[in-house]
Amino acid sequence: TEEALNHAQRLESVGQLTGGIAHDFNNLLTVIQGNLQVLEELPALAQDSYAQQLLGAATRATRRGAELTGKLLAFSRRQMLQPIAVDTHALLHSLADMLRRTLDQRIRIEIDTAPGCPPVVADAGQLESALLNIAINARDAMPEGGTLRFRTELCGALPEALRSERNDPNSNAAARFVAISIADSGTGMSEEVKERAFEPFFTTKDAGRGTGLGLSTVHGFVNQSRGAVAIDSKAGRGTTVTLYLPQQEEAGPPATEDERADETIPP
Ligand code: ADP
Repeated sequence: TEEALNHAQRLESVGQLTGGIAHDFNNLLTVIQGNLQVLEELPALAQDSYAQQLLGAATRATRRGAELTGKLLAFSRRQMLQPIAVDTHALLHSLADMLRRTLDQRIRIEIDTAPGCPPVVADAGQLESALLNIAINARDAMPEGGTLRFRTELCGALPEALRSERNDPNSNAAARFVAISIADSGTGMSEEVKERAFEPFFTTKDAGRGTGLGLSTVHGFVNQSRGAVAIDSKAGRGTTVTLYLPQQEEAGPPATEDERADETIPP
């Protein structure tokens, strides 16, 4: 639909703008950081504890600024994606192990993968960080604990509602998908939050905790991967985020290292 296309174009231009600003800003931060370091080491200031305290605070703030610009750059991601065949079963199990070690013990982590699920075609690193982003949101929605469940399902085609949203001239109508869903038993989203959740910079979290770039980055990544993403959520009932990614075609042999480079999707 036209509305969906406009939405995709708006996200695209916000992405370009953000990437440009983040890039320039990062350069400025590098200059500030470099000068702060020179000042910290200046003999005249080395013994001045008040000056060192101020410089230390300025250095920490600059580092936080650099982290934020790093997130902005990831969101606008101008770099190339390298799609390869990814085994979702292995990926989800290693992600779950890591989360079990790091998250609050009151969050139960379950996995339910479809037997014989074919690999998906996606950039492995980006897929992992998309899943991590979604899992962190789930954790934030369950401050008292709850259940985080990863599930994979084979699905023949994209759900109708998501097909129109794709702005992809190369899309293959016959493509089959794997649905990877991440469900939490947390606070859920109101209708208004659900509508806006993919918007860049939209956040309901306190400044310093949320950037509003998590789900918009996920949205950009799955679209570039010729997939789609959907949110099912009810306030008080929890949230399920589902990523649809193309299955690896059963036919052709797996891509070799050299061939992979040719498959890179331009940004
Ligand atoms: P951020 O996490 O930095 O706020 P996101 O783009 O990842 O940015 O999410 C946008 C908003 O969507 C969040 O601020 C939150 O209100 C809502 N949200 C995302 N995931 C969930 C979830 N699992 N449960 C409830 N609300 C969520």
